[in-house]
Amino acid sequence: MSGHTDEHERTMAFSDIALGQIKALRQPATPRNYEIWYAYATGYHPSLNQKINETLNQHGTLSDDDLEQIYATYLSPTRLTERIDTVGTKVMGEIEQVMAMIDAAAGSASTYTESLAGMSEQLGNSKDREGLRAIVESLVHTAKEMEESNQKLEARLNASKQEINELQVNLETVRTESLTDPLTQLANRKFFDMTLEEAIDNARATNEPLSLMMTDIDHFKSFNDSFGHLTGDQVLRLVAMSVKQNVKGQDTAARYGGEEFAVVLPNTVLRSAITVADHIRRAVMTKELMKRSTGEHLGRVTISLGVATLQKGDTAQTLIERADTCLYAAKRHGRNRVMCETDPEVAINPATQQVA
Ligand code: GH3
Ligand code: MG
Ligand code: MG
Repeated sequence: MSGHTDEHERTMAFSDIALGQIKALRQPATPRNYEIWYAYATGYHPSLNQKINETLNQHGTLSDDDLEQIYATYLSPTRLTERIDTVGTKVMGEIEQVMAMIDAAAGSASTYTESLAGMSEQLGNSKDREGLRAIVESLVHTAKEMEESNQKLEARLNASKQEINELQVNLETVRTESLTDPLTQLANRKFFDMTLEEAIDNARATNEPLSLMMTDIDHFKSFNDSFGHLTGDQVLRLVAMSVKQNVKGQDTAARYGGEEFAVVLPNTVLRSAITVADHIRRAVMTKELMKRSTGEHLGRVTISLGVATLQKGDTAQTLIERADTCLYAAKRHGRNRVMCETDPEVAINPATQQVA
C-alpha cells in the first residue's frame, strides 16, 4: 500500500477519536475543538492531554473557557513566536533600564566629584571654625546622598539580574521546545539538520572522524494495522528511548521522519558506529511489547540500520544518502540488521561515493 494510503488510515484513526470525543461531550464541532481533540488523540502534547484529563476528572466536562485556554496555551500557532517576542521585548526593556541606570550613576558620580572639588577649594579659603564646620557638614551630607543613590542602584541592578536570569531560562525553554520532537522527545528534523552541518564542519576543522546512522522500523505498517496507530506511537516512543539510551552525550539522536531515526556520531569511526548501531538493534528486538491498558501481548518489533562515515568531498546530503542506501540494503537482506558502506552487499551510487 502506498505511503499516501498509510497516512490516510493513520490520520483517520485520530480523526475518529476526535469526533467521538466531541460527540460524547456534546461540544460544538468547530475547527478549534476538532484540533484540540485531534491533538489529544495523537498524544503529541503530553501536557495538553494531562490538562484535559485533569479538567475532565474534576468537572466531568470542558467548558468553552477551558477549551479556549487549552487552545491558547498548547496549540495556537502564534504561541511560540509570541513567546519569543515577549521574551525579546522584555530583554530589550531590561537593557534599556540598566543603561539608564548606568547613565544616572555616572552623572551622580561626576556631580559628587565636582562638589568635592568645590568644597576642597572652600576649605583652602576658610579661615574660621564656623566656616570649617559648614564645609564638613556639607561634605557629610553629600557623601550620604551618594551612598543612598549607590544603594538604590545596587538594589535595582540586583532586581535586573534576577529578571535577566529568568528570561534566560524562558528563552532556553522556548528554544528547546522548537527543536524537540513532541512525540519522542528526541531532537526534531530541524535540530538534526543543524547538528549534522555543524558536526561536518567541526570534523573537517579538527580532522576527526564522524559517522551517521539511519534507522527505520521493520514492517511497521503491519504493526499499525494490527494494533492501531496509538499503540504504534507508543512503540515509536519505545524505539526512540532505546536509541537514546545507547548513545553518548556528544551524539545527537533525532526523529528523522515518521518511523525513522538518525544519530549523528561525532568523533566516531565506522567500526564503532556499527557497534553502537548493533546495541540499539539488540535493545529493540529484545523488548517484549505489551499494551499497558489491556495487558495484551504485542510481540516484538525489529529495526534495520545503515551506517556511513564522513569522507572527503561529502556534504550532509551525500552522507545521508549513503547511510540511507545502507539502511535499504539492510532491509533487502532480511531486516533486523546493521549494514555499512564497506559491506560488499551495499551498492553505493557513484554519485554519492566519495574518494577518501
Ligand atoms: P519496512 O520494513 O520496509 O520499513 O516496512 P514498513 O511497513 O515499516 O514500511 P515503511 O517504513 O515505508 O512504513 C512506514 C509506516 O510507518 C507507515 C505508517 O503506517 C507508519 N508510521 C509512520 N509515521 C508514523 C507515526 O508517527 N505514528 C505511527 N503510529 N505510525 C507511523
Ligand atoms: Mg519508513
Ligand atoms: Mg519501516
